[in-house]
Amino acid sequence: MNEFIIVNHFSDLDIGAQELVMKAREALAHAYAPYSNFMVGAAALLDDGSVITGMNQENAAYPSGLCAERVALFSAYALYPHVKILKVAVTAQKRGETELTPATCCGECRQVLLEFENRQQTPIEIIMQSQQYQWIKAPSALSLLPFAFTNASL
Ligand SMILES: [Zn+2]
Repeated sequence: MNEFIIVNHFSDLDIGAQELVMKAREALAHAYAPYSNFMVGAAALLDDGSVITGMNQENAAYPSGLCAERVALFSAYALYPHVKILKVAVTAQKRGETELTPATCCGECRQVLLEFENRQQTPIEIIMQSQQYQWIKAPSALSLLPFAFTNASL
């Protein structure tokens, strides 16, 4: 499967994707986002069935913070360095609201996801919500980074 799957409603996602999105949504409740009030949660499904979550961690010195996706990815590697990551789901919500708001992975997180793909030699599916409120399943980080810079470039 090397194509983007785009559906209009959450219920149109497969059950596995829905479950991972719900884990990401649970995680965003613990986001540390006192500056942006933009709460992001991510959930990574590992090859052994483990789900590792992350949430954005902001900082008064802005660049010192980290996105939810990278918190989840780095946590997954710290806990299970030899287990592949199969899928990552990303969700966001503005503080005080009850519905999710669209959020796709930023460029830096795409680059880190790509590094994980290259390290483990298998793609990572990425589930996220577009600005049009559609749910996207991207087949890999590479699909989100055409003409990517990788270790092959060094
Ligand atoms: Zn990011």
